[in-house]
Amino acid sequence: MDVTVLAGGVGAARFLEGLVQVMPAERLTVISNVGDDEEFFGLHVSPDIDTVIYTLAGVIDPERAWGLAGESYALLDAIRRFGYETWFTLGDRDLATHVFRTQLLRDGATISEATRHIAEAFGIGCTLLPVTDDRLRTIVETDAGVLAFQEYFVKRRTEDDVRGVRFAGVDAAAPAPGVLDALASTDVVIVAPSNPVVSIGPILAVRGVRAALRATGARVAAVSPIIAGKTVKGPADRMMAALGMVPSAVGVAEAYQDFLDVLVIDVEDAALAPAIEAAGVRAVVAQTVMRGRPEKRALAEAVLAAVQ
Ligand code: GDP
Repeated sequence: MDVTVLAGGVGAARFLEGLVQVMPAERLTVISNVGDDEEFFGLHVSPDIDTVIYTLAGVIDPERAWGLAGESYALLDAIRRFGYETWFTLGDRDLATHVFRTQLLRDGATISEATRHIAEAFGIGCTLLPVTDDRLRTIVETDAGVLAFQEYFVKRRTEDDVRGVRFAGVDAAAPAPGVLDALASTDVVIVAPSNPVVSIGPILAVRGVRAALRATGARVAAVSPIIAGKTVKGPADRMMAALGMVPSAVGVAEAYQDFLDVLVIDVEDAALAPAIEAAGVRAVVAQTVMRGRPEKRALAEAVLAAVQ
């Protein structure tokens, strides 16, 4: 059975850790968000893609759930001298990934090609596809002004009130090679428990992706990243509320309603099942908080069971 996952960063990576325990990685395709990509010190950083790669390679920092374990920060310390801002924490070993990616891009490679080389170097068995090779950047409009995604998320720690979210470049962004084919030919699509607005939103906004999800013969499931009206981590609940969405699993169902067959919701949200089904989406209740490897595996099993 082929499985294709729409993925952001941390929430997706944790879910994927479970999925690769219950299916062969070779039959897994991950379509990644690139709206969070940013340049620092002239280097192209793809935070969501790298979080997935580092997690699946088993080299992620387990506490933070991003960046590499056992990092040092000598470059950041040294580069301050030249007046660079260093609010985006890039470890020395992590920088090697960004140097390699940037070199490949300068030599004419696409983000897809660069991602493939990086994933290979980390021994990742699944196929990782950035949703587009074109420039797509998430912009957050806040009460403090218009912010690039990483400014909102990391520099200002999501403290500003959100007024709007847009994806700069999306009108000209074509799906990367393999993205629409994967959605058309896969047996199952799973929308990872990622932020619906800024992790999954940019993927769905790329031309043809949403239509491919509506048209696919695959069963389409999602895991709610919102449990009891709150995110496990991050600003998804506040962002959804600010944008007029219902900040709960019901709002997640409504956001994906046009293409979703099944929404896996947490046991804490069992009472929301009727409201989700009223939106035309089957609700399946499971334990969706992924603490350790066994919980991740169990959630992956529950999602696959729900679509079979
Ligand atoms: P980011 O780009 O690194 O913020 O990553 P994502 O968008 O992939 O992940 C953030 C989302 O993951 C948040 O909305 C969290 O609520 C969700 N999340 C993180 N851990 C868990 C978990 O154990 N269970 C569920 N259901 N959601 C989770």
